[in-house]
Amino acid sequence: MSTLLVSQPNFADHVTPQGHPECADRVRAVEDALARDRFDRLIRRDAASGDLTMAELVHDARYMAKLRDARPAEGIGQLDADTFVSAKSLAVAATGLGGALAALDAVLLGEVDNAFCAIRPPGHHAEIATPMGFCLINTVAIAAREAQRKYGAERIAIIDFDVHHGNGTQDIFKGDPSVFYASSHQMPLFPGTGKASETGVGNICNAPLAPNSDGAEMREVYRTRIIPALLNFSPDLILFSAGFDAHERDPLAQLNWNAADFGWLTGKLMDAADRCCGNRIVSVLEGGYDLKGLAGGVSHHVAMLMDGAIGRLDD
Ligand code: ZN
Repeated sequence: MSTLLVSQPNFADHVTPQGHPECADRVRAVEDALARDRFDRLIRRDAASGDLTMAELVHDARYMAKLRDARPAEGIGQLDADTFVSAKSLAVAATGLGGALAALDAVLLGEVDNAFCAIRPPGHHAEIATPMGFCLINTVAIAAREAQRKYGAERIAIIDFDVHHGNGTQDIFKGDPSVFYASSHQMPLFPGTGKASETGVGNICNAPLAPNSDGAEMREVYRTRIIPALLNFSPDLILFSAGFDAHERDPLAQLNWNAADFGWLTGKLMDAADRCCGNRIVSVLEGGYDLKGLAGGVSHHVAMLMDGAIGRLDD
């Protein structure tokens, strides 16, 4: 496989309060992990700023105006209990979006097989008209719509393995049979949505996992529910909301996946991509709040994207 890594030069310009789990050190940890020799063959590109008006593909126009108005001239503004916006946050979000759309172009034009975008802030909690859970714009959802608009892709699958349910992505696509959204997530946990009974128009597949469960339970739900539903949907492209907060070290949740579980999951989803969409995968970083757990999970995820195998990792 040829794998593109998209980096975000201005990731540190989105400032959250001291001690906030969604901090710039997360992306530093990912960059350090992917700077090792094991990852020399990655094709590397820096994201350029994207056009934030593209966010209106999924968000209410008034929502974007509200976000712009909430930006402080300096310091940090608060949008809800745990979601913050600093002076340059929207520029950072725009660059994350630009990176995800560049990855989409590279994969859909056949320049690379797959891509991983090391960006922040995360996006899957951002609903049509509400910022939430550290998220400002729903980057993966915008990429899904752009794949349809620009490339005529008819059927897009979004697989969300962040430990939290992607309520925003579900909100955006719950009435749209052209987008399949599947999520594995701890329940109960923030944001409280994601019951198996929430099925949209038959295009939503939620697989809640019990607190303190481990990779074995995850593997079971992917084998028996999510991957069969994904293959049945038969997408033209698969997007990942790639969160690594199901790792056993993560402070925000109580699942017990290890780094190898992220590699296994990536490999299984690649098998599906091989069978239904010519291997086309764009993976976008969402959560992951223990720096070591995040680095380990990302390492196994990206090594698998590159080689279909983990190989030697010095972690
Ligand atoms: Zn999360």
